Amino acid sequence: MKHLTFAVILLFSTFFAIADEGMWVPLFLSKYNIEDMQQKGFKLSAQDIYDVNNASLKDAVMIFGGGCTGELISNQGLILTNHHCGFGSIQSHSTINHDYLTDGFWAMSKSEELPNPGLSVTFLIYMEDVTTRVNAVYNEKMTIKQRNELIDSVCAVIEQEAVTKSGGKYDAVVEPFFNGNQFIIMVTQEYKDVRLVGAPPSAIGKFGGDTDNWVWPRHTGDFSMFRIYADENNQPAEYSPDNVPYQPKKSFAINIQGVKEGDFTMIFGYPGSTQEYIPSYIVDNVINNANPFRIDLRQKKLDIINAAMNSDRQIRIQYASKQSGIANGWKKWIGQNLGLKRINILKEKRDYETKFQNWTNSSDQYLIYQNILPNYKTYSAKIKPYEKAYYYFLECVYFTDMWKIYKSMNKHFSKISSAKTIAEVDSLKDAATTSASNFYKDYNYDVDKAVFKEMMLAYFNDIDSTFFPNFHTTITTNFAGNIENFINDLYENSIFTDEQRMLNYISKFYNGDRKYKRANPNKAVYTQDDFTNDPFIDVIDGFISVYNYIVLPEYGTLYQKIDSLDHLYMQAQMKMEPNKTFYPDANFTLRVAYGSVKGFKPRDGIIYEYFTTLDGVIAKDNPDIYDYNVPDKLKELYQTKNYGRYADKNDGKVHVCFIADNHTSGGNSGSPVINDRGHLIGVNFDRCWESTMSDIKFDPNYCRNIMLDIRYVLFIVDKYAGAGYLIDEMEIIE
Ligand code: ASP
Repeated sequence: MKHLTFAVILLFSTFFAIADEGMWVPLFLSKYNIEDMQQKGFKLSAQDIYDVNNASLKDAVMIFGGGCTGELISNQGLILTNHHCGFGSIQSHSTINHDYLTDGFWAMSKSEELPNPGLSVTFLIYMEDVTTRVNAVYNEKMTIKQRNELIDSVCAVIEQEAVTKSGGKYDAVVEPFFNGNQFIIMVTQEYKDVRLVGAPPSAIGKFGGDTDNWVWPRHTGDFSMFRIYADENNQPAEYSPDNVPYQPKKSFAINIQGVKEGDFTMIFGYPGSTQEYIPSYIVDNVINNANPFRIDLRQKKLDIINAAMNSDRQIRIQYASKQSGIANGWKKWIGQNLGLKRINILKEKRDYETKFQNWTNSSDQYLIYQNILPNYKTYSAKIKPYEKAYYYFLECVYFTDMWKIYKSMNKHFSKISSAKTIAEVDSLKDAATTSASNFYKDYNYDVDKAVFKEMMLAYFNDIDSTFFPNFHTTITTNFAGNIENFINDLYENSIFTDEQRMLNYISKFYNGDRKYKRANPNKAVYTQDDFTNDPFIDVIDGFISVYNYIVLPEYGTLYQKIDSLDHLYMQAQMKMEPNKTFYPDANFTLRVAYGSVKGFKPRDGIIYEYFTTLDGVIAKDNPDIYDYNVPDKLKELYQTKNYGRYADKNDGKVHVCFIADNHTSGGNSGSPVINDRGHLIGVNFDRCWESTMSDIKFDPNYCRNIMLDIRYVLFIVDKYAGAGYLIDEMEIIE
């Protein structure tokens, strides 16, 4: 299980649902939410959403890849998700000659669908509250460490039981909720043959680029389609041309009747992480410590990468996916800081904390909570320099391409070193060659060198010298302290920075075995020892030591202390407000958020409507700006009003996006947007600028999620891409 704190028995009683804030656990909908949902217009039951014994909507929802949601839209395993969720796959199939990012891609038959090694989808089979079992190991006298270890081991037993019960078919993980005050096991099944079916060009799927990302009004057709393949028994299987389309227990019916303000909406998906219950001290660290330097470091990377992408088509393709990932966080943190400051979150939290502190004095039984806030204050101050070093390590080292290729090659070379036979060495070398080629396909020496140089300059300028790695003395002695010269030399000489050098190295790498050397004199030149002599390994080793021996011991200890405060603080807040409905922070488990379609007032004098149309796409058209270059075909469809059945019945326009007050987060990308009857009416993909703060504070006046209108999806598939045969697979409600 992940990220365990300790367990204390809590009574989850007297709940009633509130506003539209909240990401609710499907298992408890009938207890806490369904009445409220039905009052807001939902016509189905809690079992229609989540049922273990019968097919329910949950069977049509999945984790897509590592961090998104997807949904089934046909009984032949067809998946709908976001363009930005499929981006890595679309990009990996793209070359200058087949530029699917720029031109889009549509398989015109199943045989043209493209496999994606490494991409999988995961279904939730069932979840079960195992809090009582986990809490049975709890003992007041134990230290936090002892308790955590016991909880870890009981969770491992519970997980193993579930896997065994399924005959090894399913995976299982016990997840902590409410900061370790509740434990729920997730039993899941993963499908690994997932093929790309279609994606619009980036000029539709990523329309507006970084400028429009996290912003309303929005005109991005952020969707892509994949298909799950299974073996002949409909069970998961590795990719094989013999696999057949997966037949789901449930898929969504698609409703194209249109969306009105006030309509009920529900988002069913996997929000990644929120921190709604943290105290002012931790929020203060986010606003004034973590966010400013993370924004600054990413800005530096983006300045280099954006300039290179704008000047070279090949680099644009190579760096598209990396750039999106960097820019997405960068922009979100900027918005988050602005939003949190605007609503003066620190004052709001401090006022609450005064009330909380008084409450702890109100009865002897609450005295155990009295030191929570003072301890937060102490630890949050102490952790600051370590937190800074930690984030610098992440941004400057861990998230770099050099780290990525080092990690991958280190794994390959270790395997080769312990290979037993000549044939094994050769086949492992082939695998290493494939990995390296995949990596260098999207690598540009100059761009990478410029980024790495900038990161090293930032690290050594901004970080306290306590956190300097050993190789800093090499910079001082051999390069007169000149970091740029050191990097130039490194890039010139390392095998990591050049594809040919790396491939040559792999071809001559062997396991040290004399027999192999005799049989392959030309192929047996380097061993693991030579690998570790590369100058880059010095850099990597230096950072690993700093991280393991200087940052982590302090950071980890303080982090754990704060973690146990989070646990107690959560527990205390629930006791202080026994009649309030609490929802657990997001932890990338399946959740339901519900609300209604709604515009809002972002600033004085401005009111945002709840939807956008194709008119707005055309109004933004600017052939000189990559992100706003509307494809000719789309303009033609607009001019001839060739909208088919996808135009809105009231205004005759093609609606593109709409907003509602559903509480969503990263990971909800690609989530189905469901109407009052359980039909699919859209795909969630983003939040408004004013809503980027909602991972820490959801304010119903400002927080809106952004969704793609399903009619725009179908319009693009049918009229733009001419892939109407896919629509024939779907159940459409007109
Ligand atoms: N755009 C987000 C994502 O990538 C969705 C969100 O955070 O609202 O997951």
